[in-house]
Amino acid sequence: MTDSQTPLDPRELIATGCRILAQQEVSYASFGHVSHRAPGSDTILIKGKGAQDPGLRFTTVDDVLEVDFDGLRVAGREGLQPPSEVFIHLGLYERNPDLTSVVHVHPEYAVALTIGGRTIQPVIGAYGGGRIAARGVPTYPRSVTVASPDLGREFAEFMDGHRIAMMQGHGATVVGDGVEDAVTRAISFNDLARLTYRALLLGEPTLIADEEVAAMRKPQQSNRTRGSAGGAAATLATWRHYCALEAASSTASTISA
Ligand SMILES: [Zn+2]
Repeated sequence: MTDSQTPLDPRELIATGCRILAQQEVSYASFGHVSHRAPGSDTILIKGKGAQDPGLRFTTVDDVLEVDFDGLRVAGREGLQPPSEVFIHLGLYERNPDLTSVVHVHPEYAVALTIGGRTIQPVIGAYGGGRIAARGVPTYPRSVTVASPDLGREFAEFMDGHRIAMMQGHGATVVGDGVEDAVTRAISFNDLARLTYRALLLGEPTLIADEEVAAMRKPQQSNRTRGSAGGAAATLATWRHYCALEAASSTASTISA
């Protein structure tokens, strides 16, 4: 996914994606990571962790490591190491050769839903999160730290056919066609999880009609003449919006400091 107004350096995309996820409160502190694999590459790029980790909100290109498929650092600065759950990413890339980006986060509302034994249901139509709800989001039943190749492969197999999975009492993992796609999908999912959580406080949810769920499952047209642009164009517009929000909030915090 490319666009003249977005940075093309994957390290920059990863760092920006991490800052956006924190600014949108999808995850916080150092809980979470974004990765990218160039098609055909035998290494990936991923946000590092360790003593020099600034946390998601302050991630820069210098915090991004190159890691091989054994989970070992190939390149990147001292004081950072691959996340213990790098095997979530490696398992998914290994199983899906065309995959180019993975996001793993600990979103509070989604985790609360798993703790409460709830799941995402088709409760909204007519906008982005509705398509996620219509397709369903499975919950990986284990709360283990995915810190070995075998666990990574097990989780990747569980995610087959899905772009988002919740993880019981733990978090969520999202895949995408590029960093912009994975990060904006993670935000849409987090918005949907928060809305679902709040609606459940009011009682049993009203589900949208079956035929409307079926309509939400159909792919969006990319050449629409009214309303939002579909497909990659809409994703990039959404990405630019969150880039601007993140930059504005960073400026505001600098001024108030
Ligand atoms: Zn995790």
